[in-house]
Amino acid sequence: MPLTHDDLRHLLALLDVTAPREIDCTELLHRVAAYVERHVPSGAPPPGADDVKRHLAICPECLEEYETLLDAVAPDR
Ligand SMILES: [Zn+2]
Repeated sequence: MPLTHDDLRHLLALLDVTAPREIDCTELLHRVAAYVERHVPSGAPPPGADDVKRHLAICPECLEEYETLLDAVAPDR
């Protein structure tokens, strides 16, 4: 039986409750560029860096994305 909009809203509300500080892959990709700047000598730590770090620890796809970006920005880190 397909989910109704009300069902979906309910499920999303549950997600908000169980993982208030987790970010998803979309959010990660929005923030990863700023996070990578940390590894450039002049870069300052961006806000929310802990959220990014936590997501990278649990998500291999985003970790790969991050490392690709890092190689491009700081190849000889
Ligand atoms: Zn991810």
